[in-house]
Amino acid sequence: MTARILVVDDIPANVKLLEARLSAEYFDVLTADGGAKALAICNNEQVDIVLLDIMMPDMDGFEVCERLKANPTTAHIPVVMVTALDQPADRVRGLKAGADDFLTKPVNDLQLISRVKSLVRLKTMSDELRFRAETAKTIGVGDPIGDSGAVEKPGRVLLVDGRASSQERIIKALKPVAEVFALAEPGNALFEAAENDYEMVIVNSNFDNFDPLRLCSQLRSLERTRFLPLLLVTEQGDDAMVVRALDLGVNDYIVRPLDPNELVARTLTQIKRKRFNDRLRENLNHTMELAVIDGLTGLNNRRYLDNHLKILFNRAAARGRPLSVCITDIDRFKQVNDTHGHDAGDEVLREFATRLRSTVRGADLACRYGGEEFVVVMPDTSVDLAASVAERLRSIIEDRPFVLRSGRELHITASLGIATNTVAVETPEQLLRQADRALYEAKNTGRNRVVASAA
Ligand code: GH3
Ligand code: MG
Ligand code: MG
Repeated sequence: MTARILVVDDIPANVKLLEARLSAEYFDVLTADGGAKALAICNNEQVDIVLLDIMMPDMDGFEVCERLKANPTTAHIPVVMVTALDQPADRVRGLKAGADDFLTKPVNDLQLISRVKSLVRLKTMSDELRFRAETAKTIGVGDPIGDSGAVEKPGRVLLVDGRASSQERIIKALKPVAEVFALAEPGNALFEAAENDYEMVIVNSNFDNFDPLRLCSQLRSLERTRFLPLLLVTEQGDDAMVVRALDLGVNDYIVRPLDPNELVARTLTQIKRKRFNDRLRENLNHTMELAVIDGLTGLNNRRYLDNHLKILFNRAAARGRPLSVCITDIDRFKQVNDTHGHDAGDEVLREFATRLRSTVRGADLACRYGGEEFVVVMPDTSVDLAASVAERLRSIIEDRPFVLRSGRELHITASLGIATNTVAVETPEQLLRQADRALYEAKNTGRNRVVASAA
């Protein structure tokens, strides 16, 4: 994980210490000895995380944080405030200033590295999301991420905790930011987490005869809960458990006695990450869909056809079943464009696709092959059956005029070529080529007709 960390502290020894520890983990480290310098670096360079001291002579850490969060070019950079151990009031002020996380001095190695890694993961995710949103906007498919600056809903948290008093404390602390469902019985937790729509699970390690890491490991391996953030509550000094937990994929941990503000900050960080993650995944699915769908007609595109025809062709061959394809091309379509304009041509293509879709069965694959050419792949369909489907399509195009938005009516016809997977046809490409040859013949023998490949 190569990320760039900016360490801000007015005391050179503190800077050196953090720099050495972070460099040892292969982070790229920048340093600043004051607030103004930190702001300048964030503005002008690529910074992934800021570790920010609070007490500094030129400008204190709260103000630096506020300014970073108020500036759109730096607002997305996670800020970790480094506070003195005995000052819980600092945390409240830090949260108000927009801090994403806290570390207490003297900084514990394990905490430092796990916090920084966790925030780097979060930042990587949000950066990716921002880039995708920009690309989506540029290519004109809108903004699938939506308004991410909107006020977020309260989180949904599952708390697995063996003690009623500690359950109460956690529920109360998280009340402003999350709805918490508490379970005292760890045996039910896996089912509860898998069957519901939680955004985070808090596992308290306070069970008498249950290993909390077993639950964490089960939650990590189950498909439905694999991406669910896990926060472990541990005992002071239980470093061995923390190391094992982080190895298992637990996202973060917090040490008893719980500081309510710290609990809120860590919970929000995890929920934010999950929401980014979910949006990213949705966005990815959406992009993948766009890649195989023709934007004008909503039919599958040629890329999809080329891939899927292979599968259908091989399956038909393996089972000794017939498979037919029909290529259809609108007659004298260039004239439609030339006479009525390109937009009218587009309207015709859309209506053509609608009629095509209404003619074929659900199991058939209808695609826009390019321009004014369409392909229908028909599994389990003999050449005779394909010929009758093609004839039906030919007539529903010819029989009813295409009505444009302008009210103008156009008489459209199409020519069609069909081919079937006989023994002579060895590849899907050959099958398409034969159908194309039949189409060519239909064009040459008068148009508005169906021709079946002789081979
Ligand atoms: P033929 O009967 O021989 O098929 O004649 P044709 O005019 O249909 O064939 P040709 O291949 O010469 O012209 C196809 C036209 O389709 C040319 C092109 O401008 C038009 N076309 C291709 N894609 C689109 C599109 O997305 N929208 C519009 N409006 N026209 C398109
Ligand atoms: Mg044509
Ligand atoms: Mg053509």
